[in-house]
Formats: sequence, structure tokens, C-alpha cells
Amino acid sequence: MVEFHSKENAILKKVVRNGMKYVMIKISKKLGELKTMRIALIAHDKKKNDMIALAERYKDTLAKHELYATGTTGTLIAGATGLNIHKMKSGPLGGDQQIGSMIACSELDLVIFLRDPLTAQPHEPDVSALLRLCDVTNIPLATNLSSAEIMLTALERDEIHCRKGEDYHGFKS
Ligand code: PGA
Repeated sequence: MVEFHSKENAILKKVVRNGMKYVMIKISKKLGELKTMRIALIAHDKKKNDMIALAERYKDTLAKHELYATGTTGTLIAGATGLNIHKMKSGPLGGDQQIGSMIACSELDLVIFLRDPLTAQPHEPDVSALLRLCDVTNIPLATNLSSAEIMLTALERDEIHCRKGEDYHGFKS
């Protein structure tokens, strides 16, 4: 009789232990998912090769996150790396504005925009608006290769933590 009870206890303990293990796995999976960053990748034409090389170098890190890009940049990166990328319209056709709208809606966490500072862009107002919105919402923004490398290295080491948005009292959403 006593033996029956201890057997029952052992089974109960096992069930509880397995149950706790299951819950812990679920929680850590959820935390892992929460850490996924939403990253925008954009490159002007003369910087596209740099962007592709960058994406190839950090492919494994980028693959853990949700990627967005303007049309041509996204197509080229996906072709070279096989990364899964949500593609917007091409930049000059409104893609920068689409990315800008995501920034305004807090739908992006990091932006890498390799700009060409030596060539006039037909959609310069869209570019400026996108960059300004990154500052408005305090989103980490890299506009050249060196800063992009620093950003992706930090991401690789899991050193980028949740940003704190600016608090604009007086402005209504
Ligand atoms: P693209 O757009 O990726 O479609 O070339 C980039 C840009 O804003 O110029």
C-alpha cells in the first residue's frame, strides 16, 4: 500500500517536472521570438554592392530577424543570400515612403540605409523624410558601411536592447 503511494508520488513528480519543463521551453521560445528585430535595408544604386556584401557577411545574423527592404535592394539581397525579405516598392517609386510609414507606426527596430552622398536622387525628399522619422522615433540608423558594421556586430552579439521611444508631450498621435 505504502509502495503504491510512493509510486504514485513518483509519477506525479515526473508529470509536474515534465509540465514545468514544457512551460519553460514555451516561455524561452516566446522570449526568443520577442527578441526578433524588424530591420530595414536600403541602398542607393552605387552602394548596392556594399549592401550585398554586408548582407552576405552577416547572413546568419540577419536570418534570425524580420527583414524589410526597398524593391531593388531587397531583390538583389535575396538573390545573393537567399534571405527572406519583405519587399516594398522601389525607393524612387515610393518605397522609402513605405519604410518611413513603418517607422512612424513603430513597426521597425533598426534601419540600415547605405546612402550615396555624391549623387543627386530624384526622391531626395522621401529619403530626408525617412531619415528624419528615425530621429523622431529614436530608431538606430546606419547610413554608411562602418556604422552598419558596428550595428550588425552588436546585433550578432545580442547587444542591442529595446529602444526607448521619445516622449513628445503636446503632440497627439
Ligand atoms: P531601391 O531603392 O532599393 O528600389 O533601389 C533604394 C532607394 O531609396 O534609392
